[in-house]
Amino acid sequence: MEAIAYERATNIADAVKAAREPGTAFIGGGTNLLDLMKGGIAHPLKLVDITHLRDDGLDAVRALPDGGIRIGALMRNSDAANHTLVRERYPLLTQALLAGASAQLRNMATIGGNLMQRTRCPYFYDTAFAACNKRAPGSGCAARDGYQRLHAILGASEHCIAVNPSDMSVALAALDANVQVVGPDGARQIPIGEFHRLPGDRPDVDTTLRPGELITGVDLPPSRLADRAYYLKIRDRASYAFALVSVAAALQVQGDKVAAARIALGGVAHKPWRASIAENVLIGRTLDDETLREAAAAQMRDARPQHGNRFKVALAERGIVRAVNVAAGREPAGVTGAPA
Ligand code: SF4
Repeated sequence: MEAIAYERATNIADAVKAAREPGTAFIGGGTNLLDLMKGGIAHPLKLVDITHLRDDGLDAVRALPDGGIRIGALMRNSDAANHTLVRERYPLLTQALLAGASAQLRNMATIGGNLMQRTRCPYFYDTAFAACNKRAPGSGCAARDGYQRLHAILGASEHCIAVNPSDMSVALAALDANVQVVGPDGARQIPIGEFHRLPGDRPDVDTTLRPGELITGVDLPPSRLADRAYYLKIRDRASYAFALVSVAAALQVQGDKVAAARIALGGVAHKPWRASIAENVLIGRTLDDETLREAAAAQMRDARPQHGNRFKVALAERGIVRAVNVAAGREPAGVTGAPA
């Protein structure tokens, strides 16, 4: 039995103050942290309970003066997905949130917790496997010679080939979100592309959060891409499964030319992967099958699959083609199979 100190914070300043001691974790929905603690993977010395905080719009969605929105970190995933401002202005985010987990988990999990959820690599969760650099730094990586179907094809290192499991974060990457945090040194914002880390030689560190920092919200800048957006999640079963590959795509089309494109990939790397190469190929071009296949192939040219997941490269290419086609209205969302 491990003793864990518990403190219930009453406001943001209180929570940050309570988290000064090393080994402290914030607990909100608890849908990942409690699993990790029960599995003997996470060992916090102290839990700071933030579930009842209501200051600074932590449990709300509000419009920002620039035309964007701020989603409070303690909003439940289901509430955020169904909020009018999110549905109308950022349908891509609604789709991604509703593609994640189960209804019960979405009702419990928070936006901040979704950003912080850890990889679903099976060796990370099964302590019977001693080798996992993410769980036990320096112990090795059981996945490198093991089961790799769900693992990375971009940005991996010799120390870890795990992927980030969040659907929401893929949409946030495409939408250029900024994560708002408050810590011992004050408030700051972290662009979503810099929030999650690649594994490098420190796969045990998932994010660029500093010790004691609390996520307070996520800002979405104004977007003109709402009308043409689609989140494609390809998985082994139709629900309650993590993505083999996912694609968040949003477009702005003027005449028959692509004026703006936002594409991000999930299930392929230790962080949501912004597909800037594909975006740049598409901008200014007429959207046709040949151009789309060119963009997807260019994006995946740097992929380095493992022996057990070579199929993911073609899957990602076809996923990009299909997601952009659906976003552009060139293909109905209900039809399976990609034209590539
Ligand atoms: Fe651990 Fe990463 Fe290797 Fe999985 S891929 S066993 S999380 S080090």
